[in-house]
Amino acid sequence: MANVKLHKVGKVYEGPGGSQVRAVEAVDLAIADGEFCVLVGPSGCGKSTTLRMIAGLEEISEGTLEIDGARVNDLPAKDRDIAFVFQNYALYPHLTVAQNIAFGLETRRAHRSALVAALSGAGAARAEESAKIDARVAEVSRTLGLDALLARFPRELSGGQRQRVAVGRAIARDPKVFLFDEPLSNLDARLRIETRTELRMLHRRLRATIVYVTHDQEEAMTLADRLVVMHKGKVQQNAGPQECYERPANRFVAGFIGTPPMNIVDGRLANGAFGANGVHAPMPTRVSDRACALGFRPDRVRLAAPNSAGSVAATIAAVERLGDRTDIALDSAWGRIVARIDADLATGAREGDAVGFTFDAAHAHLFEAGECGARISV
Ligand code: ADP
Repeated sequence: MANVKLHKVGKVYEGPGGSQVRAVEAVDLAIADGEFCVLVGPSGCGKSTTLRMIAGLEEISEGTLEIDGARVNDLPAKDRDIAFVFQNYALYPHLTVAQNIAFGLETRRAHRSALVAALSGAGAARAEESAKIDARVAEVSRTLGLDALLARFPRELSGGQRQRVAVGRAIARDPKVFLFDEPLSNLDARLRIETRTELRMLHRRLRATIVYVTHDQEEAMTLADRLVVMHKGKVQQNAGPQECYERPANRFVAGFIGTPPMNIVDGRLANGAFGANGVHAPMPTRVSDRACALGFRPDRVRLAAPNSAGSVAATIAAVERLGDRTDIALDSAWGRIVARIDADLATGAREGDAVGFTFDAAHAHLFEAGECGARISV
């Protein structure tokens, strides 16, 4: 296994007519040996390009990529000792599960045995290697619960099983680094959750260095040791998932991580209160008066009686009952606010009702104005 370091890595694509698209900008990243690192962000933020540069499938325009301390910018993909698992599995349809898993090992053997054969007539050495490959395939298929499927062809497998074979092929080679590009996005919701749990357990067993790309923040949160949130080609935050959730570095991360998303209101802090569109609520802080954005998560919102002290007046726009919790969308002078409350407290809530809401100021966040406004320490 290995560590992976990116120093100011950037990618500029040449567009039509000499135009340039900057896809990735000055990415600094140090991924430790055995770490599960997830790159997450909306479509087009540059995560796949970053992964493809690590794999050697895309040329690096700027900066340095190191694997285990060696600069590998110019090393061809096949020499980087990296395994790549794609969204579309890329299994060979005419090969069985066992042959697909063995494929990486077989191609390596083909290179080596050509060399061996050139040097001597080494039949015994070839038989020994075949036995090694069989043993490795058996070991990998046991790890992934594929033993019973080894003789099947990909068309005879479910989506989840195919994905496991693709993972098996990657593991079989025992590479330095695993790269995953949206590997679960073709699976249905239930299978996605099951497979992500399996991946997490597999990582615990293998202690492999993994770089994993997804646009799904929940998947990212559950898998990552290290979460790298990207937007417009730049890293917005690089920290543990809980840190990103509890102390988002900026407004973009605050809005991207967490479901339902954090409520974020543009306004002004003055005299211990936050105000927007002429409506104020207490917000005790030492921060000096300024234009800023206030953020509070839906589970930090409470419903209050209409016109009660310190509350913001609102009308219930929608009620979504989720079993133990209820999400309530509120229309107010602060825009659309979502409250997530215990189902017991929401039994009487009806669309169209006039209510008030308060938020837990001790768990509120403040950000500088602007799309990626930095976190302000409350
Ligand atoms: P993500 O994986 O986050 O969806 P990508 O890394 O695929 O994002 O793309 C980042 C940006 O680079 C996007 O604006 C995309 O349109 C652009 N891009 C990606 N591949 C190419 C390419 N081969 N040529 C030109 N632009 C590209």
